[in-house]
Amino acid sequence: MAITKIHARSIYDSRGNPTVEVDVVTETGLHRAIVPSGASTGQHEAVELRDGDKSKWAGKGVLKAVENVNSVIAPAVIKKNLDVKDQAAVDAFLNSLDGTANKGKLGANAILGVSLAIAKAAAAEKGIPLYAHVADLAGTKKPYVLPVPFMNVLNGGSHAGGRLAFQEFMIVPSAAPTFTEAMRQGAEVYQILKSLAKKRYGQSAGNVGDEGGVAPDIQTAEEALDLITDAIEQAGYTGTIKIAMDVASSEFYREGKYDLDFKNPDSDRSKWLTYQELAALYKSLAEKYPIVSIEDPFAEDDWEAWSYFFKTSDFQIVGDDLTVTNPERIKTAIEKKACNSLLLKVNQIGTLTESIQAAKDSYAAGWGVMVSHRSGETEDVTIADIVVGLRAGQIKTGAPARSERLAKLNQILRIEEELGANAVYAGEHFRTAVNI
Ligand code: PGA
Ligand code: ZN
Repeated sequence: MAITKIHARSIYDSRGNPTVEVDVVTETGLHRAIVPSGASTGQHEAVELRDGDKSKWAGKGVLKAVENVNSVIAPAVIKKNLDVKDQAAVDAFLNSLDGTANKGKLGANAILGVSLAIAKAAAAEKGIPLYAHVADLAGTKKPYVLPVPFMNVLNGGSHAGGRLAFQEFMIVPSAAPTFTEAMRQGAEVYQILKSLAKKRYGQSAGNVGDEGGVAPDIQTAEEALDLITDAIEQAGYTGTIKIAMDVASSEFYREGKYDLDFKNPDSDRSKWLTYQELAALYKSLAEKYPIVSIEDPFAEDDWEAWSYFFKTSDFQIVGDDLTVTNPERIKTAIEKKACNSLLLKVNQIGTLTESIQAAKDSYAAGWGVMVSHRSGETEDVTIADIVVGLRAGQIKTGAPARSERLAKLNQILRIEEELGANAVYAGEHFRTAVNI
């Protein structure tokens, strides 16, 4: 079935910044994808093309990327008359139009919008849900596995205004019997956490950060973890709901050290931590709290620190800024034994095919895969279908608050209902869901 029209426009993400939306029209109708955007982006991510014209949107416009879709990609793709079901051929063609290794010419934001909208057109042509099409493309075995939602209920770092250096504190309802029950447990803890935060730190502590988690002006990880474990206890889930963190430590890596007071312009250098000291801090936190997963514990190019920490840890260690969903970086991380799980963000690499490849390379190394949103999100729910289609077993898409976060979680509720007995919840097997 032919594509009759491809059209991009500039719309807004959850932070009010411009982002790219792409419409692909075929005989089955209109298929649309919207591109997300990070704040604590990795240096090695594919290029997100921004206009840089300071007179508009402080330089954050995406009019060039939109124009690249409308005048370069659209006519070329329509002329080429590719089969939309052959995603690998579509994405290879998009990459050839760009011609750079990092999608710096057309922009990963231009390319990704087209790649995902075409995948949706293909699913419609096959008359199947998008997750089933992704499963076909990836060769995923059945039954379908529904992911554990890693819910980011307390926001710090570059996603919130307070002093807290660590970026994300997530609750992990992995002992629940179904995704629906996991959502209930998470939502209950979240409401209690919100009132507890206000009681302990004042009304303003109930304000939320970029991903919907509460953002009290606390300084230490211990304060955050105490608040969360207290909320878990009050909700009655002690021992069943676990905790995960995304430290996003590249954000506070300074001159070879880690500055936990990085938001303070007068930060005391003598307190900056070596990687060994930071590793010891993680160890002591993991002894005191039920931590099952730590993401980006060290900076994106501090390989020595990652390998050092990995040797002595038995929980999940997730690469995000380290690996940037990039097959080359993933290969290096496997060789260096840096981590044992991939954070998969489609806009870090820029096409669906390369995202699927990143997951497969990770599985082949015995790693887990966690599919992820960005801190700047939209109403697009594609990652919900991707996590199910890839059998990744884990998704992080913010708190159970703010609709750009819940849109994905709500989509997984629908998928669980639709699949009924034909799906299982990843539960405690979230890191090895591909093998269930
Ligand atoms: P970002 O944050 O989307 O701002 O990069 C998410 C993350 O670090 O995992
Ligand atoms: Zn991260």
